[in-house]
Amino acid sequence: MASQELRFDGKVVIVTGAGGGLGRAYALFFAARGAKVVVNDLGTPLTGGGASHEAADGLVAEIRRNGGEAVADYNSVESGAAIVEAALKAFGRLDVLINNAGVLRDKSFSRMTDADWDLVQGVHLRGSFLCTKAAWDLFRKQKYGRIIMTSSGSGLYGNFGQANYGSAKMALLGLSNTLAKEGAKYNVYCNTIVPVAASRMTATTVPADVMELIKPDFVAPMVALLCHESSTENGGLFELGGGYVTKVRWERGRGHVFKADASFTPAAVQAKWDAVTDFSAPVYPTTITEVNWLDLLEQAKHLPTN
Ligand code: NAD
Repeated sequence: MASQELRFDGKVVIVTGAGGGLGRAYALFFAARGAKVVVNDLGTPLTGGGASHEAADGLVAEIRRNGGEAVADYNSVESGAAIVEAALKAFGRLDVLINNAGVLRDKSFSRMTDADWDLVQGVHLRGSFLCTKAAWDLFRKQKYGRIIMTSSGSGLYGNFGQANYGSAKMALLGLSNTLAKEGAKYNVYCNTIVPVAASRMTATTVPADVMELIKPDFVAPMVALLCHESSTENGGLFELGGGYVTKVRWERGRGHVFKADASFTPAAVQAKWDAVTDFSAPVYPTTITEVNWLDLLEQAKHLPTN
C-alpha cells in the first residue's frame, strides 16, 4: 500500500487526547510507521471533568506489544509545556504535534453557561494554543515541524447546541492560518482538518451502520501525510472521513463597488443585493492582501452616484 512508503522512523509525535477515538487511531498509525509517540490523554468523560490514566496506559501497552515505541502523558492540554517536556524527556526531540483532544458541552445558546463556554474553549482553543506555543520555537530552531489543528463542521457551518464548540473550532482555523504564514520559512507547517469519525463524540448522533463506515482509521492516513517531511502542504483545510478527503477554501463573490458619497445608503445596497451576493465570478483569496482596494476605490471615483 502506498501509505506504507511514508515512514516516520526517528520522528517524535505528540498526539493529544490519544486515549480514544481519532487520537488513538493516529497514535497507532504513527507508531506502526516507526514514530515514537507521546500518547497524551487526560482521561476525561466526554463532557470534561475527572481524569484517568487507563486509556493512555492501555494504548501505550498496545503500541509496545506491536513492537512500537510510546510513552503515556496524562496532562491536560492546558498544560501544553508539560506535554512537550514529556516528549523531550522520553525521546529527546519533537517533530509532529497533533492537537486532537476534545470535550463537548452541547446546549442551546440560551441555556449555555459561562462554565460550558470556558471548558470547551479551554480544551480546544487554549489547549491547542498552549501545546503549539510550547513546540513552536523548537520546531523553528530545527527547521522542521508539522502541526495539525482539529476543527469541525460545527465551526465551519454552525450546528445547533454547539456555540461554544463551533466557535472554538473556527478559531483554530484562524490560528492555523496565521501559524502557516509565520512558520513557512522555517519548514514548520500547520494544517487544519475537519474530520468525521465514529467515536464517543458521534455515538449518539450517527446510526450504527454509518459508524462502521467512518472508523477513525480512515482519517489517520491523511493526517500522517500532512505530517510527513515530504509534504509541502501548509495552511490547508481538509474535510475528511470514511476514506473521503477534500480540500476546502474560501470563496469571495464578484461584489459591487458603490460610489462612496451620500448616495451610499442602505437602500442603495438593497438595490444591488443580487450583485453583492453574486458568486458567478468568484475568487479564492488565501492572503489578507488579495483584494486590491486601491484599484476598486480608483474605479469608484468614476462612478455616477448610487
Ligand atoms: P473522543 O472523545 O473519542 O476523544 C477525545 C479525547 O480527548 C478523549 O480521550 C479525552 O479523554 C481527551 N481529552 C479531553 N480533554 C482533554 C484535555 N484537557 N487534555 C488531554 N486530553 C483530553 O473524541 P474524537 O471523536 O476522537 O475527537 C477527537 C477530536 O476530533 C476532537 O477535537 C473533536 O472535537 C474532533 N472532531 C471529531 C469529529 C468526529 O466525527 N468524531 C468531528 C469533528 C471534530
